[in-house]
Amino acid sequence: MYDAIVIGAGPSGSSAALALRGQGRSVAIIEAGEFPRRKVCGEFISAVNLELLDRLEAGVAVRAKAGPEVKRVALFASGPCIQAGMPRAAGDAFGRALGRDVLDGILLDTARNAGADVFQPWRAVEIASNGDRAIVRIANKDGQTSLSGQVVIAAHGSWGHGRLPTNLPKSSAASDLFGFKAHFRGASLARDLMPLLVFPGGYGGMVWADQDRISLSCCIRRDVLARLRKKGGATSAAQAVHAHILASCPAVVSTVGDASLEGEWLAAGPIRPGMRPRFADDIFRVGNIAGESHPIIAEGISMALQSSWLLAGELARFEQWDRTARLAVGNRYSRAWSRQFATRIHAAALLARIAVLPRSNTAMKAFVGWFPNSLTLGARLSGKTKALPALSHP
Ligand SMILES: Cc1cc2nc3c(=O)[nH]c(=O)nc-3n(C[C@H](O)[C@H](O)[C@H](O)COP(=O)(O)OP(=O)(O)OC[C@H]3O[C@@H](n4cnc5c(N)ncnc54)[C@H](O)[C@@H]3O)c2cc1C
Repeated sequence: MYDAIVIGAGPSGSSAALALRGQGRSVAIIEAGEFPRRKVCGEFISAVNLELLDRLEAGVAVRAKAGPEVKRVALFASGPCIQAGMPRAAGDAFGRALGRDVLDGILLDTARNAGADVFQPWRAVEIASNGDRAIVRIANKDGQTSLSGQVVIAAHGSWGHGRLPTNLPKSSAASDLFGFKAHFRGASLARDLMPLLVFPGGYGGMVWADQDRISLSCCIRRDVLARLRKKGGATSAAQAVHAHILASCPAVVSTVGDASLEGEWLAAGPIRPGMRPRFADDIFRVGNIAGESHPIIAEGISMALQSSWLLAGELARFEQWDRTARLAVGNRYSRAWSRQFATRIHAAALLARIAVLPRSNTAMKAFVGWFPNSLTLGARLSGKTKALPALSHP
């Protein structure tokens, strides 16, 4: 019997659990995977989240491990490298990157230490209702059990398949984007620079993360990837993508050409950008499952942490979360979510479209060449300096 059951322990799930523990609520977190685990993600955390992480008692641990401050943005495409300043945020001025194998562990450990019960590795397989309480059935290789809670928060991302009412239906289109990511050691990228990579059929990014490793992540269209694999005869999709980026962006060759790959390339997707219901079927949704921006703006972790904080703030208005309270919270949270994230989701969709299509990306490269400060403006539009309106709960 819990006040809240949170499904998924990525940044959204653990931060939701932490925010609710801060209100003295009893919380269970269910996580299907074992940690530490790597994840397809660029791993950049925008500056405005550091104060939020402080509120969640995780800021000290994140700052202690994260890579250097990112003070400049750049465009690495077919031509010369173009650079501009990263806009400064209030408080911590600049963001930093931290491997997801480290970040997600810090957040989950902090939630556990704050008193959340962690069920890991357990998968949520069914959500049902028993009068005014929700029943979540969870399973792992040893068996099954059920947990009951006043509210259920889906924080399981948008990639998983299953029969939860919050799982997205499968779909497939030539324009789908698959995500790839790798860590490199011994790269020669300037330590304060985060380049956006633009290449035919996709986009990506690079940044110094923790432990002197660079995180290189990207998205590429399904049809372009299929053509590359057919043409190159590469042994894996990741090798085809790696070779394609090196052939398309000379500045990437000069920064990671001699670097060594750490571990394997990871692949995931297709990604599912867009806005979805934040409250439906009596289930709250945070992080990627509530809505997702194209990774071209590297704001998914921000949206995961901030959406959980917004939801917890609305839940804090009520002592008991009966049906009337849940509906009121759902309405207010949905509106607050749109105010905070809709602009960056639209901006990212437009930018991704421009980057991926050959004709528009040529125009984009020319435009950024003439106006390098458009990179700074783009970072601002993507929400890099947009803090949450209130960092305290009622
Ligand atoms: C190529 C790429 C680059 C990116 N780069 C950046 C970046 O630089 N900066 C940034 O801010 N964002 C970036 N993002 C986006 C970011 O990775 C996501 O937005 C973020 O991970 C979303 O967090 P989440 O907590 O919602 O979901 P997730 O991180 O996906 O976590 C969901 C968790 O739920 C668990 N789970 C799933 N189903 C179940 C179940 N049924 N039961 C129990 N557990 C379950 C999973 O195991 C997982 O641990 C990038 C994304 C991609 C694809």
